[in-house]
Parts: sequence; structure tokens; C-alpha cells
Amino acid sequence: MTTRQDCLDRDAADPLGAVREGFCLPEGVIYLDGNSLGALPVAAADAVSDAVGRQWGEDLIASWNKHGWIGLPQKVGGKIARLIGAEPSEVVAADSVSVNLFKLAAAAVGAQSGRRVVLTEGGDFPTDLYILQGLVGMMPEVELRVVAPGGIEAALDDRVAVVLLSHVHYRSGAVRDMAGPSAAIRAVGALSLWDLSHSAGVLDVDLNRDGADLAAGCGYKYLNGGPGAPAYLFVAQRHQAALRNPLSGWMGHARPFDFVDDYAPAAGIDRWLCGTPPILSLTALNAALDAFDGVDMAAMRARAGALGDLFIERVEARCAGQGLALASPRRAAARGGQVSFNHPQGWAVMQNLIARGVIGDFRSPDVIRFGFAPLYVRHVDVWDAVEVLGEILDSVSWREERFQRRAAVT
Ligand SMILES: *Cc1c(COP(=O)(O)O)cnc(C)c1O
Repeated sequence: MTTRQDCLDRDAADPLGAVREGFCLPEGVIYLDGNSLGALPVAAADAVSDAVGRQWGEDLIASWNKHGWIGLPQKVGGKIARLIGAEPSEVVAADSVSVNLFKLAAAAVGAQSGRRVVLTEGGDFPTDLYILQGLVGMMPEVELRVVAPGGIEAALDDRVAVVLLSHVHYRSGAVRDMAGPSAAIRAVGALSLWDLSHSAGVLDVDLNRDGADLAAGCGYKYLNGGPGAPAYLFVAQRHQAALRNPLSGWMGHARPFDFVDDYAPAAGIDRWLCGTPPILSLTALNAALDAFDGVDMAAMRARAGALGDLFIERVEARCAGQGLALASPRRAAARGGQVSFNHPQGWAVMQNLIARGVIGDFRSPDVIRFGFAPLYVRHVDVWDAVEVLGEILDSVSWREERFQRRAAVT
């Protein structure tokens, strides 16, 4: 049985331990929600302050050239590329995940005139489904095929243009094998489109090794880019010439500053830009990504897995018989960076935890989620968080009226 001292010892011996010092983490808080909003890297705060005060404040519009603002989407994309097993020329930071999924799915359908089916699984992150619903709503000849979890391979045929899949499921944290489905999708002539929102920055994603065609992911979760940080997208080199961005904005033009009337797509990944990039947000994300410098992706994944294993072990020991049911895969190899439990009073339990300084989140109807961002969560945090959870469940303090009220954001 693990003790609190064991946790302290593991933290002291962990080669990733020092990375935590690069983050601003409030005293008295155990932050287990980096899967929803990553913590603030010290370097991001400094970089934004410089971008506002010196760059915007003093150098004004000259900063587009002088401080390289115009190249930030590609620069940030290049840093993300290492985290997801891609080439820098295959990734660019832009827009939100929602918008990037729209661009990529529409392009995949547009490039394959004989194929009229967009395929995905039900129960996935809502925006992924909503975006596909919007897309097929604009294209009456295109059909959205939504299958039950596990049903993708059986639903593949030569009418399928693109298949959207999450690498890690947002609710359960379950990881999906990437190589097998990518190969099966390729075998019927369709394109795979992976949502990496819950896997980049916590797992050792390797898009090119695993044969992925397209991908998009989130900048504000494990990448720590800040609230509403730009997302990113990946287009494998072999598809870059054939696919067209349907949101053909000027920043994706071959020569935006020629100001000509007719759209001509930039070569390569640049064509996936649409409008003017959000420089302050990109500045934060650019600096935040430096926290991954020198971090080995396999070691990062191993640490997230070990933290999750410890959490499950401790919850099952400390909170046995208290109504919690594991809603995530038990094996670390099958999990992303989070562990979820069902509890019939999940909302109130989570509000009570937050009031006690242990921050996770809640997903309707009854899931409480705990994220173990491997760059800054320690083993001792896991230990202490479970102690607080145990006290809350023992004392039933979550019954208090103030923990029952629902807020707009969960
Ligand atoms: C967080 C998340 C998103 C976020 O989409 P935005 O448009 O950037 O808000 C999309 N998909 C998944 C699977 C996510 O986890």
C-alpha cells in the first residue's frame, strides 16, 4: 500500500519534477483540471506582458514584421508538431477546434466527389458532432453516419469520404488505437480525421507513424495556451496539394499582401489559415509550449499514467462503498491523462471539492473528472486530493445547499 511519504519520494525522484516550477499554481489549491484549462506557465504571462507593453504599445503595427507576428501560426505549429509526431510543415495554429474540424471535414468531402458519407461515433465531444451536422446541412447530397461506439470499422465502405474520431474520449479518458483505424479507413479510400484535444501534451501521439491523414486539437488544455487559446490542425504532407480550405480567407492566400481580387491558396500548410491570427493568444501559447522543451513524450505519458493509477488505487482504498464507480479504463495504457468516476451526486461532490481547493470538473449527467497534467501535478497532490474527497464523502458535506446550485460552466 502506498503511503504519503512514498508519494513525496516519487516526486523527488521524478525527472519531470522540475518542470512544475515553470507554472504559476496558487497556494492551497490542487489543480486537477488541466484537461479543461491548463495552468498558467510563468513564461506565458511574461511573454503576453511583453507583447502588450513593448510590442503593441511601442512598436505598434511594425510588430507584424519586427516581432515576427505574421509567422506565429507556423512557429507555434512547428512546436506542436514535435508533440504529435508530425513535421513542422504539417501543422499550423489557427482558429478553434470546431472551426478546424469544419475546414478539414469539408475539404475531405470536397476532394472526393464520388464519396458522400461523413462517418463518426455518437457520444463524442458535442462540438465534433454539431460541426458535422452543420456541414452536412449545407451539402444536401452528403450524409452524416453516426454509429454507436465501436461501430466504425463495420460502417466503412466506398461511399465514406472522411471519418472523424477522438483519440482520447473526453468523458471516460479512453484512448483509441490510432494505427488500426487509420489503416482501415485508408483501405476503403477514405481519410481519417483525428481530434487530439485530450491527447496532445499528455500522450506520445505519433500521427505519421500511425498513418493519420488529418487532425485538429486544442491549445488551452494540456498545451496550457490559456483561455480560448488558438487550436491547431495537421494535414499530412501527401494530402496538402489536393485539399482546399473552404474558409478561403486572405491569410491563407498565396500572397495576402498583393490584395488581388481572386483567391489563390498558399502552398503547403499556410492555406489553412483564414483571418488575422490572434497575436496575444498565440504569444501565450507559443511561450507555454516551451514547457515541453526537453520533455520526453514517453516519460510524460508514463507519468500521467502513474498519477492516474495512484488516484484509482487511493480512491478505491479511501472511498470504498461511497457510491463512486470508475468510469475510465483501469489500465494506464488504455487511458489518457484523466480519470473519471460516476457518482449520483457528482455535481455537488465536485462543488464541495472545489470549495476545499481540489479542482476537477463535472460532466453531465454524473461524471466527475480529474485530470493529471503530467507537467505539474505531483504524486502528493493525488494523495492529498483523495484525502479531501474521502472526508467529503464520509461527512456528506456535499449535501449543503450551496453545493447544489448549478453554474453556467461546469
Ligand atoms: C475541448 C475540445 C474541443 C474544443 O473545441 P473548441 O472549438 O476549441 O472550443 C473539441 N473537441 C474535443 C474532443 C475537445 O475535447
